[in-house]
Amino acid sequence: MQKIVILGGGESGVGTAILAKKNKYEVFVSDKGTIADKYKEVLLHNNILFEEEKHTESKIFNADVVMKSPGIPDKVVLVQELKKRKIPVVSEIEFASKFTDATIVGITGSNGKTTTTMLINHILKRAKLNVGMAGNIGDSFALQIAKEKFDTYVLELSSFQLDGSVDFAPHIAIITNISPDHLDRYDYNYENYINSKFRITMNQTADDYLIYDADDIAIENWLKNNKTKAQLLPFSIKTIVEKGAHIKDNKILIQTDTNTFTMSIAALALQGKHNTKNAMASALAAKLLSVRSETLRESLEDFESVEHRLEPVFKINGVQYINDSKATNVNATYYALESMNTPTVWIVGGTDKGNDYTELMPLVREKVKAIVCLGLDNSKIIETFGNVVDFLIETAGAEEAVKVAYKLSEKGDTVLLSPACASFDLFENYEDRGRQFKDAVRLL
Ligand code: ADP
Repeated sequence: MQKIVILGGGESGVGTAILAKKNKYEVFVSDKGTIADKYKEVLLHNNILFEEEKHTESKIFNADVVMKSPGIPDKVVLVQELKKRKIPVVSEIEFASKFTDATIVGITGSNGKTTTTMLINHILKRAKLNVGMAGNIGDSFALQIAKEKFDTYVLELSSFQLDGSVDFAPHIAIITNISPDHLDRYDYNYENYINSKFRITMNQTADDYLIYDADDIAIENWLKNNKTKAQLLPFSIKTIVEKGAHIKDNKILIQTDTNTFTMSIAALALQGKHNTKNAMASALAAKLLSVRSETLRESLEDFESVEHRLEPVFKINGVQYINDSKATNVNATYYALESMNTPTVWIVGGTDKGNDYTELMPLVREKVKAIVCLGLDNSKIIETFGNVVDFLIETAGAEEAVKVAYKLSEKGDTVLLSPACASFDLFENYEDRGRQFKDAVRLL
C-alpha cells in the first residue's frame, strides 16, 4: 500500500486525504496548528488518521509521497528535510489531477485569477458543459474528483500550487498578468516568482494552449527567453494580434484557428480595462471549448460582479460606493483607479507589503479628490500623496473611514475602497474588510 502524508488539514489537505483514501492509499494528515472542527469531523467520519499541533517526524519521513498545503513555505525545516531524503513533495493539484481525465482550464497570474475563473465557469455552465470549479473557491479540486464526475474543471492556481506540480498539464492555461507579489516566499527574487507562474505551461504539449497578456512585460520577456510547446494565444488591448484577442472600434475580436467572435466592450458586464482583459482571456478559452457565440455573448453580458472586486455597493445621495477590498497590491488598485470615471474619494491603506506607490501618481492626480487612510501605519501614503490631494485623513476602522468619505464626497463622486495593501493590521482578512465596509455604507 502506498503511504501518503498530508501536511496541513485545511480544504486542500482534507480533500486530498479523501481522494487518496478512496484510491487505497494509507493516509496520515499532520498539522502543526489546530485543525478546524468541520475538517476534523470529516477525517473522523472517513477513518483517516490525523494529528494536530505537532508533526511526528518518524511517520512523516516514512511516506512514499507528501502533499503539502500551499500555505506551508518551502523554507520550513521539515520540507527541506523531506527534500533531502528524496521524498516527493507535491501540491494538491499535482496529486489530484492523476485521478481524472477531465479537460482542465488552469488560471494563474498576479491579479484577476478569481474573476477569470468565475467568469469562465459561468460561461461553460451556461453552455451546458458538465463543469466543476476549484482552486481557492469552494470545495477542493481533490474532493470534487473523489465525489463528482465532471468532464471539465476550471481551476484557479496560485504560484504555490504550481510550485508543487511535477506532471500537471492543463489543456488550456491562462496567465492573466504578472507583477511583484508574495516575494517573501521567493527569496525576494522576482525572477523566481515569474518562473513559478510559468510552471503552468511546462508540461503542455502542442495540442494544448497558453492564453496570456501580451501587454505584460514580464510575460513577454519570459516567452522571448524560454520555450513552451503549447500553442500561444495572446490577448492585448494595445496591439493587434493575428491569433488571439485584440480590440478594434471598441469591440473585442477573438480569433482562434477555427473560430472568430466579436463583441462590443460596452456590453460587457464587467467594466474597466482589466476586466476587458479578463473577458478576452475567458472568451478565448470558451471558443477553444467550442462554446457558441450567442451563449458566450449572453454570459459575458449577464455575469454578476464578484464580491470584493470592484463590487458596486450602493448609491447614496448620488455617490457611488465601490468595494474593491481584494485589491491587496498596487497593480490591482491601479486598474481600479483607472476605471474611475468620476471624482473619487479613495480609501487606501493597511499592511504594506513593500509597496511602491509612484506608478499610481498620475491616476491620483487626475481622479482622486480626497484620500482616506485606513491602516495603522499610513506614513508611506502620507509621504507619497500628502501634497497631491487637498484632503488626506487618517482613520482606523471601516465605519470611521466610510463616515469620513461620506463627508468628503458630493453628488456625482465615487467612494472607492481599494486598499493596495493586505488587511491584517485592522481586519481578519480582505473579506472581513470588505464586509465591514459594506455594512458601514448600509448604515449611512
Ligand atoms: P486574484 O484571484 O488573482 O487575486 P481577483 O479576481 O480576486 O484576482 O482580483 C483581485 C484584484 O485585482 C481586484 O481588486 C480586481 O479588481 C483586480 N483585478 C481583476 N482583474 C485584474 C487584471 N486582469 N489586472 C489587474 N487587476 C485585476
